[in-house]
Amino acid sequence: MLKEYYPYEYAPGVFAIDYKKLWALGIRGIIFDVDNTLVHHGDDSNPKIDRFFEKLHKMGFKTLLLSDNEKSRVERFNKNIGTLYICDADKPSPQGYLKALELMGLEKKQTVCIGDQIITDIRGANNAGIPSILVRFIRLPQEKRIGKRRYIEYFVMWTWKHSKKYRHRFGNILRSG
Ligand SMILES: [Mg+2]
Repeated sequence: MLKEYYPYEYAPGVFAIDYKKLWALGIRGIIFDVDNTLVHHGDDSNPKIDRFFEKLHKMGFKTLLLSDNEKSRVERFNKNIGTLYICDADKPSPQGYLKALELMGLEKKQTVCIGDQIITDIRGANNAGIPSILVRFIRLPQEKRIGKRRYIEYFVMWTWKHSKKYRHRFGNILRSG
């Protein structure tokens, strides 16, 4: 069933989300995918991302990086952020997600996963029973071609948009303006 692939919400990017609204919904922990969600695939963090995490932590959120990538890549990314992380997560297996809850000391309903891929990030969150937000994948202007997976995602999200039961399970979580 396609519902395995449905996120709670969709956002054009991590900066388009209103984190105060998530807090008001009772969310206290955020599990982030790294590649193409926070930065372009393989990139290090940057001052904007570092400040973003600082702001989330000041608001009271716990954060965790959940990545299928290897330890050295995730540690390099996390150098100035200093948050919890799990590498070699083997998404969409629920194991990494459940470990993330344990590390953050939070319940499923207090947590949200944010990622760019339906087949790994969102399906994994659904497998673990954790709400999720799909973000538009980060793509460089010179990247003209997109993979087959992205076409599958467009199709799934088209059906999500028409599913009264599964779309907008959080309500509006986008920043205004
Ligand atoms: Mg990704």
